[in-house]
Order: sequence, then C-alpha cells, then structure tokens
Amino acid sequence: MRPVATHSAAARPTIGSPKSWWSLRRDIIWLGDPLARLCGCLCIGPWRTARMFRMAEAQRSQPRCDECRRDLAGVRVEEQQLCDRCADKLIAAATGWPELPAPPPPEVLIGPDGERHVFRYRLFRWPGRVVAIAEEVGRGEGGHRLEIGVDHLDDAGSLAERIRAAARSAAGRVQLVPDEQDRWQLDGVEVLGRLAESDNPYEAPRVVIDGSMLTWEQFGDLLSPTKGWTFHLRLGDDAKITDDARSARRMPLDEKARLLLSIEPPKWFVIATDHYPTRGDWTDQRRAENFPARQ
Ligand SMILES: [Zn+2]
Repeated sequence: MRPVATHSAAARPTIGSPKSWWSLRRDIIWLGDPLARLCGCLCIGPWRTARMFRMAEAQRSQPRCDECRRDLAGVRVEEQQLCDRCADKLIAAATGWPELPAPPPPEVLIGPDGERHVFRYRLFRWPGRVVAIAEEVGRGEGGHRLEIGVDHLDDAGSLAERIRAAARSAAGRVQLVPDEQDRWQLDGVEVLGRLAESDNPYEAPRVVIDGSMLTWEQFGDLLSPTKGWTFHLRLGDDAKITDDARSARRMPLDEKARLLLSIEPPKWFVIATDHYPTRGDWTDQRRAENFPARQ
C-alpha cells in the first residue's frame, strides 16, 4: 500500500525557493573554505564576510518545529509544522502506535567516481507502513531519495541499518558513464532511479539517475542505443541493497556537510492523523488478507 502522505509542492516554504538556494550553493562552491584558507588577504575578506552573513541568514530563516523549536521542520500535520520526531510523537498519541526509534545520524558517502553524497535519514510511520528515508542534501531537486519500509507489526528497529546500507549501495552504484564523445550513456542493461515531480503539472516527470536530474528528452537520448529492444519497467520498489555498497566509503561529517544540513530543510511531507489505522484495524486487515473468507 502506498502512503497517503505525499511531498507537497504547495507546502514548500517560500524562503527555500530554488533561486535563493542556488545562489547559496554557488557561494559554497566558489567561495568555499579551502579558497579562503589559501588566500587570507583582503580580497577574500569582504566576500567571505558576505558569505558568512548569507549562511547565518539562511540558517535563521529555515522553518523550525512549532513544538520543540529546535529542529528543522519537515512535516505538516494538523495545521502545525513539526520536526520528524515531534510529528511521530503526535501520531503515536493520536493512534496508539508506539513511537519510532531515532533515525541514524546524517553521513557523508564518497562514491567510486569521487562524487560526494551527504545523506539525511528520516523515519516515519505512514498510514500503510513504517518507512526509513535517505535524502541526499545539497543537490536541489536532484540527488538520491531512497525509501525502505516494514509492516506496522514488524520491527522498525531493523530499518536504520537497512537504509544506511541502501544509501551506501546508491552512492557506490555508477550507472551513467561517458561514451567516446563524452556523452552520458547507461552502463549496463538495468537502471535504478526515481521519477521526480515537476512544478508544472502538465510536464512529464523528470528522471533522476545516480542523483542527476534528467529531462524526459535526455532520458530518451540515453535509451537511443537500445531502440528496438524489449524492456521490463517496474515501479515503486523499495531501495535496493546491493554489492555496490562496497565501492562507497563513509567519511566523518565535516563542516561543509553540517553547513548544508543546517541550511537545507528536510523535504516536506503532509500527513493527517485520521488517515491512520489503529492496531486493531490493522491486525484485522492483515488477517483478512492472509485468510480471505471463502465465497
Ligand atoms: Zn520538534
């Protein structure tokens, strides 16, 4: 069962608009700390001050949880904007399901291509199941977004290690490789990715592979060498844990990653507590699925 809760474009805060985010990202790239360390002269001074001012402003302007006032908010529930933990507490109080364990702390993974991925982990109880989500930070609407779930009646404690393994598998998997003309091509005959929604509801979904956002046309170009082939498309699977995980390495969370996490809020979800089944409802439903009444 897919969750009722969804990413909501309407719920995105205006502060985190793509334009302001892009300008911040550009600052990080061009006026990053390594440059400032190399050159301590006055030419960097004003830029660095301006950058620090913008960073501080960005940190201040991120929406905080209405309840704890400490963590960044990422869930809209019953007219409130809450952090993941406070949202889970509210769901547990309203439905009787137990509170979920804490998610794993964020981490930095380096892929075999040298690409750096900063992952934020989240745990949620959706109406249909409990899920762990890995969100890559610092890549705008692109980046990896992985999900693994268990049934309400299963052990949610297993999700933490599985979602970390899925993130490591995704970081270690390189599916887009350059051809002789330096154009992207698919490495292999199977590809894992996700479909991203566009702000324009009439536009075809975008395709994210290896965390890179492709237009429908770019995806078509990637498939051109396989014209005439058959294919098998399967949607909605949980993130895969594969041997690729061995190719990615973990790095301690550094200052750059902490900064990204502090200025980029979690992706928004909108939930309603009256969409949740009680434990009794859920047990009855499971029993009916496993032992359907004979006609
Ligand atoms: Zn909170």
